Amino acid sequence: MINNDTVFALSTPVGGAIAIMRISGPDARRALETVFTGRIEPRRISYGSVTDPDGSKIDSCCAVFFEAPASYTGEDMAEIYCHGSRAVAVRLTERLMSVGFLRPAEAGEFTKRAYLSGKMDLAQAEAVMDLIYARAERSRKAALGQLEGRLSAVISDLYSRAKIALAELANYLEDDTDEVSLDAPALKNRIEELGSGIRSLAANGMRSRILRDGARVAIIGSPNVGKSSLLNALLLRERAIVTPVPGTTRDTLEEDLAIDGIPVVLVDTAGICETPDTVESMGVARSRREAEDADLVLWLADGTRELSDGDREILGSLSGKRTVAVITKADLDSVFFPDDNGTFCSFPAVRTSAVTGEGLTALKKLVADNLLPGGTDGAEDLITNSRHISALEGAADSLSDAADALTAGNFDGAFFSLHEAMESLASILGKDDPTEDLVDSIFADFCMGK
Ligand code: GDP
Repeated sequence: MINNDTVFALSTPVGGAIAIMRISGPDARRALETVFTGRIEPRRISYGSVTDPDGSKIDSCCAVFFEAPASYTGEDMAEIYCHGSRAVAVRLTERLMSVGFLRPAEAGEFTKRAYLSGKMDLAQAEAVMDLIYARAERSRKAALGQLEGRLSAVISDLYSRAKIALAELANYLEDDTDEVSLDAPALKNRIEELGSGIRSLAANGMRSRILRDGARVAIIGSPNVGKSSLLNALLLRERAIVTPVPGTTRDTLEEDLAIDGIPVVLVDTAGICETPDTVESMGVARSRREAEDADLVLWLADGTRELSDGDREILGSLSGKRTVAVITKADLDSVFFPDDNGTFCSFPAVRTSAVTGEGLTALKKLVADNLLPGGTDGAEDLITNSRHISALEGAADSLSDAADALTAGNFDGAFFSLHEAMESLASILGKDDPTEDLVDSIFADFCMGK
């Protein structure tokens, strides 16, 4: 896609010694010629002034012009290096607005243009932002590797392998002459191998993200099941307000702690239940979101009473979520227990008491085992972005559907699922027409000037 307008934005925060103003688009050169007095030659930095139309100086500065496609955005692009004060930034912005054929860039627009002109794929564009916000050395390395296309190469390879399998199947399905045969068991093995490779890549991504950024663990359950008490017991201090009146935790509380060496953000949510009280229903909506965003849900059931309709509704909303069931108030008489396999409602389960501390060590172990099966040892930082991790999980699910369909002799179904797997992989790189919404949502999180 070609942009026919030209945009500008300050790429540095105001208040440093030097500020960089970027201009990108077909009229970038004309814009630079209009406001800057220095000589303009592609890729040569030159010294001059930015001036008003009457020739009066706004600032003395350097500027450089990059000719398309050899620029960050792939378009004609200019950068002006001026002094970093607010006053200079304001006057330079006004001057650029006044030329009449420029508009201010949106957040992330330079990188979006780079993506749209094929300079980088979506995963690389996301890496730009990760590199800008990288706080730890490990994050910097992961983002740089991704920007340099390390992840893209791996995904492209997986994509080609899925495509070859699809082509083989298509060849067989389209053949009217009965000359093409299909070794379905061999194809199924290849698809399964590909799927398990993708699944372990996603699991590894999850590990490295958790070790780097910490895991979000949401405490979810009906009012009064003991969420705040459990949070306090795990933190060993009175952080959450505990009262016997249902619905007192109106908002979410977040606390950092380490569980078996894993950094964890523990989120105590307001009791999930339908309620006419508006403050509380906002909290309820937030609890549902927290459950969705969490890496692990601790679903709390009050062991002293049978499950209520509300409990069952929450339970229903957790299907497919990585969940540990916590049966609370173990110091009182319980009406249910984990079964012989240690599960309750098909989730791994533990009984705890916030009063006696019973079960807390076992709970921590369950949390650690479910977040990082296999412990905290080395996870390669190839994949760290949750969007990529869920796309990989989606691709792996589609591949196992494809393998099942092949076993059942349902070749059309296998074709469909393989195609779906390819789409999931392609969505990581933004290949094959990703939806505009997806692209917009990714760039909306960018900062100005990048
Ligand atoms: P929340 O609404 O789910 O956050 O529940 P709270 O933590 O506020 O607890 C609700 C009530 O249950 C309070 O009266 C707590 O003292 C009581 N409670 C919570 N956990 C336990 C426990 O392990 N044992 C006993 N005996 N009471 C508990």
